[in-house]
Amino acid sequence: MKPAPFTYRRAATLGEAVDLLAADPDAKVIAGGQSLVPMLNMRLARPGTLVDIGALSALDYVDVVAGRLEVGATATQADVAAHPLVRAHLPVLAAAIARIGHSQIRNRGTVCGSIAHHDPSAELPAVALALDAEILAFGPRGPVSYAAASFFTGTFDTALAADEIVTAVQFPLPAPATGWAFAEVARRSGDFALVGCVALLRTDAAGTVEEARLALFGVASTPVRLPEAEDLLTGRPATAEAFEEAARVAAEHLDPGSDSHASADYRREVAAHLVATTLADAFARTPAGSTADA
Ligand SMILES: Cc1cc2nc3c(=O)[nH]c(=O)nc-3n(C[C@H](O)[C@H](O)[C@H](O)COP(=O)(O)OP(=O)(O)OC[C@H]3O[C@@H](n4cnc5c(N)ncnc54)[C@H](O)[C@@H]3O)c2cc1C
Repeated sequence: MKPAPFTYRRAATLGEAVDLLAADPDAKVIAGGQSLVPMLNMRLARPGTLVDIGALSALDYVDVVAGRLEVGATATQADVAAHPLVRAHLPVLAAAIARIGHSQIRNRGTVCGSIAHHDPSAELPAVALALDAEILAFGPRGPVSYAAASFFTGTFDTALAADEIVTAVQFPLPAPATGWAFAEVARRSGDFALVGCVALLRTDAAGTVEEARLALFGVASTPVRLPEAEDLLTGRPATAEAFEEAARVAAEHLDPGSDSHASADYRREVAAHLVATTLADAFARTPAGSTADA
């Protein structure tokens, strides 16, 4: 199919982009176009004006400021995954990006676009939630920021106002010696995940858990943190038994839906498996875990 007619405007500055967005209540931002163009072609989106932010080179950056890794709105997924600051400070972000679609998608798709788009099967909203990221935006009322915990409100829905543009996402860096893991299950390589999990684990030198962060995606209309499993782990030795128990507790608190791709039971079972395995993999990346017997 072909898209419904629309007006195309390429903004030269962030201010111009905000003005263009405000001028048409049916306007939409286009960044990498990797989600929006298919939606236009299928006529699932019919914007009056497309405001292209691709020329905003000032927003094409990755930086580390005050303990946060910041990714600007026009930085592509491929560039972010390959960036030395990401490799050094936030490898879990690179690992998550590597599971997005195919290289052609990652070469044009942006990190901020994925977060603004908020597909519940997408990797990056879950990473943002696991790390308590801040989403920075700009609109007619000036700058605004959203905590990831309240940003993702439902399938393809966020707290972002229609006249606001995401300008950057700030990921707080995990404390030193935090282990991490990212895993997902998809039917084929490059497909959207059925279920995925992000785990971050910090222990003391003896292997007692000081902090656990877990986020699942593909099990609800938004990514979900697993506070019961996180609390169960904290203060306990990081053992395979503890990880299995955390997985059981996590599964008990999930209420996934069934669809043509997978049943609710299957998603719950896969989620539990991923919680246990990502915790074990995250522990293996901690100083205590890397020397412990598996
Ligand atoms: C074949 C295929 C496979 C894919 N597989 C995956 C996958 O496995 N995992 C995954 O997560 N994604 C997948 N994607 C989607 C891809 O990751 C997109 O790049 C991403 O979802 C959106 O980023 P974008 O920059 O392309 O945004 P666009 O497509 O340009 O925009 C998407 C939406 O976000 C809004 N938006 C974008 N940027 C901003 C901004 N800065 N401020 C406000 N609103 C904004 C747009 O208005 C639009 O509503 C796939 C896409 C394709 C075509």
